[in-house]
Amino acid sequence: MKQIGTKKITGKIVIKTGLHIGGGNEKVEIGGMDNPIIRNPLTREPYIPGSSIKGKMRSLMEWKLGKILETSGKPCNCGKSDCEICRVFGSANNSKGEKPSEDSRGPTRLIVRDATLTEEWSKKFLEGKPLVEEKSENSLNRITAEANPRPIERVVPDVEFDFEIAYRIIDTGDKGATDEKYFDTVVKEGLRLLQNDYLGGGGTRGNGEIAFKDLKDETGTAIEL
Ligand SMILES: [Zn+2]
Repeated sequence: MKQIGTKKITGKIVIKTGLHIGGGNEKVEIGGMDNPIIRNPLTREPYIPGSSIKGKMRSLMEWKLGKILETSGKPCNCGKSDCEICRVFGSANNSKGEKPSEDSRGPTRLIVRDATLTEEWSKKFLEGKPLVEEKSENSLNRITAEANPRPIERVVPDVEFDFEIAYRIIDTGDKGATDEKYFDTVVKEGLRLLQNDYLGGGGTRGNGEIAFKDLKDETGTAIEL
């Protein structure tokens, strides 16, 4: 087994409808926002964790490929070399900390970087342009019919983030042919599905629609999804 190449996709993520990726609310102060978005702790700039993008691509591809186990509802974690999910996205130890029964897939092929504000939008953030809104989502009490407003933070539409993934091509005796194939059928397809789905929380209520823009490969050639 030998790494014989790396593919790259760079470009931008454009927010189409308010994006909420939770930052955890362990440290809620009195009067503080109880549904904050994740931010860089030093600069306070919002960002999109690579793990959120990768996790969503994985989940969409698991559903597409029928890799959700019907008995447990859990995703595939077989570790087999010919499993698109485990090979591209990695296979984790299960909740009991056990390794997959077989692990012949080699290293996880896909690496998704954290998506930070583009230079242009970082500048706007520094200038004080509000990139984050506080939206009130109502949950209705079914008995009293009273609405219970619950504020959540969202990155507003039009904001752009830099996007980058790397993908390893490993020769597993096939001169990298399997990884080349999965780059199209799993990675690009995952990005396509993500664009038609949503990122972050509240997607079924209209949050988290995104679009990829100006995608290029490692040679600078434009990529169409
Ligand atoms: Zn698997």
